[in-house]
Amino acid sequence: MKNTTDLEGLGLATRCIHAGELVNDAGAPHTPLYNTTTFAFPSTADLLEVVDGRRPGSLYTRYGSNPTIQSVETKLAAIEGAEAALLFASGMAAECALFIAHGQDGIVCLGDAYGGTLSLLAQSLPKLGRTTAFLSGTNLSELKAHLAAGARLVFFETPSNPNLEVLDIGAIAAIAHAHGALVAVDSTFASPVNQQPLRHNADLVVHSATKYLGGHSDLTAGAVMGSQALLAPLRAWRSDLGQTPAPETCALLARSLRTLVVRIERHNTNAQAIAEHLEGHPRVRQVRYPGLARHPSHAIAKRQMTGFGGMIALEIDGDYADTVRVMDRLTLFARAPSLGGVESLATQPVTTTHRGLDEAERARRRITDSSIRLSVGLENAADLMADLDQALA
Ligand code: PLP
Repeated sequence: MKNTTDLEGLGLATRCIHAGELVNDAGAPHTPLYNTTTFAFPSTADLLEVVDGRRPGSLYTRYGSNPTIQSVETKLAAIEGAEAALLFASGMAAECALFIAHGQDGIVCLGDAYGGTLSLLAQSLPKLGRTTAFLSGTNLSELKAHLAAGARLVFFETPSNPNLEVLDIGAIAAIAHAHGALVAVDSTFASPVNQQPLRHNADLVVHSATKYLGGHSDLTAGAVMGSQALLAPLRAWRSDLGQTPAPETCALLARSLRTLVVRIERHNTNAQAIAEHLEGHPRVRQVRYPGLARHPSHAIAKRQMTGFGGMIALEIDGDYADTVRVMDRLTLFARAPSLGGVESLATQPVTTTHRGLDEAERARRRITDSSIRLSVGLENAADLMADLDQALA
């Protein structure tokens, strides 16, 4: 296998294509799909060599010991600049393992987050004794107080879902580390092409690989990247809870990762052009995009991101009915709750991703009846702008 060290010093696009690929007898340029649940051994002595860890080998797919899965994990680690990566059956499975493994002394969730994550943290994990304090991402004195009281895991999204809040990874990591806490960043909206949180001193990075890493709206997966030591307890939970993705999904993900850089570059340029176009639109009250100089955290975004991604949040100048009318008139943008694929999608957080929040919580998070979240795809930007213009007209 070509591993991370073989590729040290090489560029990101090169690592996306070559990292982790298994050299194989058939001469295939990439890792074959080992679509198998188990692996056979010539003898019991040989089996025990692998079971007892005296030599590496494949054993059972649910444990993650399958060459197709491991090859994609090596690729992901190389792309994110991490020592190791672990794949999961979804982004939520990845977060669940993270919070169970490292959240036992209390979790702090900063700022905005995906509705499913909020539900996991607020509703489900307290039943397992994992409690979360939800704090603003900008009032860092609040964070210090909570860490002083004992919380040992700080989690946040940047840029966040759905409002594209940008939090300062380095500043938060400095505070967390001073209190002996870990920092985990959900970097799904950015992708590793635009942001590598470990370089800004985060300890762990989480991705819904369903989004930009998969990139074609045809696979569901998750990933966590970090040190071997921090991933070890997540690996145990993944195995015990059966959260490992299928080898077919991993092969599809590897296919997608090979084109990650070119895809993200196009997402970035399309979204920047559309955000600038909509900024002056008479029917749009507000455009939130980290690449706009008017974004409240544009300076932080410029410091910690190398591109600003494909996600845009809009406030329509109108009420709920007006916003539904705009949504329903879109023709190229599909009305769907996901993001990160080649095709452009639009969603109202109040009808999908954040529907589970009550009104007060939505108001606190500035998720309004007039909010639309765009996932800008890879179509021609002019066609997408024309679609938005006719829907807004
Ligand atoms: N994190 C973010 C930022 C998301 O937007 C989502 C899903 O939309 C998730 C995590 C959960 O990912 P999945 O749907 O792959 O479980």
